[in-house]
Amino acid sequence: MSKNKQFVEKITAMEDDFAQWYTDVVKQAELVDYGLVRGTMIMKPYGFAIWENVRDALDRKIKETGHSNVAFPLFIPESLLEKEKDHVEGFAPEVAWVTHGGDEELAERLAIRPTSEVLFCDYYSKNIHSYRDLPKLYNQWANVVRWEKTTRPFLRSSEFHWQEGHTAHATDEEAAKETDQMLNVYADLAENYLAIPVIKGRKTEMEKFAGAKYTITIECMMHDGKALQAGTSHHFGSGFAEAFDITYLDKDGKSQFVHQTSWGLSTRIMGALIMVHGDNRGLVVPPRIAPTQAMIIPIAQHKEGVLDKAYDLRDKLADIVRIDIDASDKMPGWKFNECEMKGYPVRIEIGPKDIEKNQVVLVRRDTNEKEFVSIDELEVRLPALLEEIQQNLFDKALAHRNEKTTVVKSMDELEKALKENPGFLKAMWCGDEACEEKIKEETQVTSRCIPFEQEKLADTCFCCGKKAKEMVYWARAY
Ligand SMILES: [Zn+2]
Repeated sequence: MSKNKQFVEKITAMEDDFAQWYTDVVKQAELVDYGLVRGTMIMKPYGFAIWENVRDALDRKIKETGHSNVAFPLFIPESLLEKEKDHVEGFAPEVAWVTHGGDEELAERLAIRPTSEVLFCDYYSKNIHSYRDLPKLYNQWANVVRWEKTTRPFLRSSEFHWQEGHTAHATDEEAAKETDQMLNVYADLAENYLAIPVIKGRKTEMEKFAGAKYTITIECMMHDGKALQAGTSHHFGSGFAEAFDITYLDKDGKSQFVHQTSWGLSTRIMGALIMVHGDNRGLVVPPRIAPTQAMIIPIAQHKEGVLDKAYDLRDKLADIVRIDIDASDKMPGWKFNECEMKGYPVRIEIGPKDIEKNQVVLVRRDTNEKEFVSIDELEVRLPALLEEIQQNLFDKALAHRNEKTTVVKSMDELEKALKENPGFLKAMWCGDEACEEKIKEETQVTSRCIPFEQEKLADTCFCCGKKAKEMVYWARAY
C-alpha cells in the first residue's frame, strides 16, 4: 500500500499548482523528457505513440481532401526569408541561424525553418506556369525551430513537430474555400478524435499570421480556464504571390497572380489533450487515439490458469481493440496506478474468482466506475464502453467550457469574471486595436477569435463604449 501511495504522490494536485501538475503528468506518464538544448524535448515511446495516432488520423483526412505529402529542405537562405516584409518581421526574433559549414563561414546565413511559406513560394514561382498547373495542394510533416524565450513541453518548445499545408489556387474564392475546409478538418480531428470541443472563428488583425490576409482558428479551453489555439488556417490572398512573383497564364492567356493558403497543426495539441482531460490521477487519453485502449491486469497471476486465461483474453480481443497485458511481477496496485497515470481508457482485471464466474472487471479511467462483464459478452461490451468513454470525455469538456464562459459588458465585469470564474469571456468589441491593446496590457487577456457563430450581446464595446461591431471571445492563453 505504501508503495502505491508513493507513486501517486509524485503528481501535484491541479488545484494547488496547475503548471506543476502539467509538468508532473508529462513526466510521470512518460510522454517526454527534456532535450539537452533548452526548450527542446525528447518524445518518448508512449508520448510519440499518442502523437502518431493523432498524426495518422489527420494525415488520412489531409489525403482524403486531395492533398499530397512532400518534404522540403530544413534550411532557408536569408535572402529568401526576407522577400515578404510582414512575414519576416513576424518571425525574425525567433529564427535560429546557421553561419558555418565546418570551419568555413557561409557566404549567406541559412535560417532553420521556423515555417516553410517562403520555400513553397519559391518552388511555386518556378513550377506554376499555366492554369493547368493549379491547384497545388501540398502538405508536409516536419519539425521546425523557433527560438522561444520561455518554453514548456508540447506547449511552447524551441523545436516542434507539425504538419504545414501550402496550397496555390487560381482564384481568391477557391483559396477561401480551402482555408475553411482545412479548419473544418482540424475541428473534426479535435472534436471527434481528441474529444476536445472547439470554437471556430477568425483572428483579429493583431493576432493573425504574419503575411496573411486573414487567419481562422480553432480555440479550446483547458481545465484551468485558459485558452489554447489548437490549429490555424491562413488565407494569403495574393500577397506572397506578388512578393515571389508566382503567376500563371489563365484561359485567355492573361498573366494572373495565384492565391495561396497555409495551415498547420502541431504537437501543441498534445498539451491540449493533457490539460483538457487529465486529472489528479494523471493522463486521460480518449479511446479513439489511445495507443492502448484496454490494459489487462491479471490478479494473483501466480495461481494456476490465471495468466493463460489473461493471454487468451488478449488474443481474443486483439482484433477488436488495441489491447495489452501487464504480466510483470509488479504488485497489482502498482499496475492500477500506472494504468491511471498513463490514462488507458479501460483496465480489465481478471483473477481466480473472476475465472470461476467466467467474468472480468472493467474499470473506466474517466469515471473510475467498475462493471462486471461476462467473458462471452466482452467482444460487444468493450467497444461499446470505449465509445461511451469517448462521448463522456467530450461532454465533460464541453460542460466545463460552458461553465467557465462568462458574458461581460464592461471592463469591471471582465475583471470580476477573471477573479471569480477565469475562463472565456464573451464580449462585444468595436473593432479598434486600441481597445485590444488596452485589454491585453491591463489584464493579459487576448482576443482569441471572432467566432463564426455570432451573438448580439450588447450595442456597445465593453472596453470603450463606442458602437460595437462584433462579438469576440477573450481569454488568457497558452
Ligand atoms: Zn472599443
